[in-house]
Amino acid sequence: MTSTMGRRSIWVALLVISLLFSLRPQRVSSTLPLQSLNQGSKDSATESAPKQDWNDAREVHCSRERSRAAWKIIEEYLMPFVDKKKHKISTECRLHPDNDMFRDQEQHKTHLDFNDWKCGYCRKRFYEEKYLDQHFDNRHYDLLNVSRNKCMADLCGALHCDHVMDSVSQKKSKCNPAATARNKHMCEALADSCFPINQGVASHLHEFFLRQFCDAHTCSGKPKPFSRGRQVRTSWSYVVISVLTILIVLFFYVFVYLYKRGMRTRPQVLKRLSESGRKKKPS
Ligand SMILES: [Zn+2]
Repeated sequence: MTSTMGRRSIWVALLVISLLFSLRPQRVSSTLPLQSLNQGSKDSATESAPKQDWNDAREVHCSRERSRAAWKIIEEYLMPFVDKKKHKISTECRLHPDNDMFRDQEQHKTHLDFNDWKCGYCRKRFYEEKYLDQHFDNRHYDLLNVSRNKCMADLCGALHCDHVMDSVSQKKSKCNPAATARNKHMCEALADSCFPINQGVASHLHEFFLRQFCDAHTCSGKPKPFSRGRQVRTSWSYVVISVLTILIVLFFYVFVYLYKRGMRTRPQVLKRLSESGRKKKPS
């Protein structure tokens, strides 16, 4: 009787544990074969013959990495302030997401876990972001919008990408007055096209843009870029997933605690029962 009860509760515990694991968002299996480390791809070696496509991909003269840096700067140092003013950037403005040729691909990246990146088009998984980038270049090249003026990396001079990407080499390099003047000009042109002075709210943002990005294009070293600070927008899906995970873990520990307590008290109850049974027998 006791052994069947114990076995049954073990089965229930196993079932709950397996349920909990299936609920967790796709984790990396720790038993992946070593060969799949090839090319950083997780599931197969089918990524091995894209040489022909790769040549086509090289025709894109726009750095994905620098475009990403430019986008990050826009996201952190500009958009929160634009949103606060409830201003909508027009597609004419080069800072608009539609004018980033890599935007669609970047939005199809899922960072599931440390060392786990997933392609949103074909669900293939990779160990590092750079392998996923290569995969995009090779396999989803046709999805790139390579028309002119869609390269965010071109705006890097105005937006101080180097300041964000590699601060060490920037400090060492001497200031080039001609390049600095060019960047300042580009920066001011961006301010004019994205935030027209004659429009109420936009004129405030025009002023903000000049202070935040353009003033620092000077060889004097003062002021520094992004003088108005940054704001990181919290993603609601991240908050919801975090809360759910905490609840699941809590539920699991409470279950384990109750189960262990049940196991500890049951033999004592049974002992007491059998003892009382034995005492009753002689009478
Ligand atoms: Zn893919």
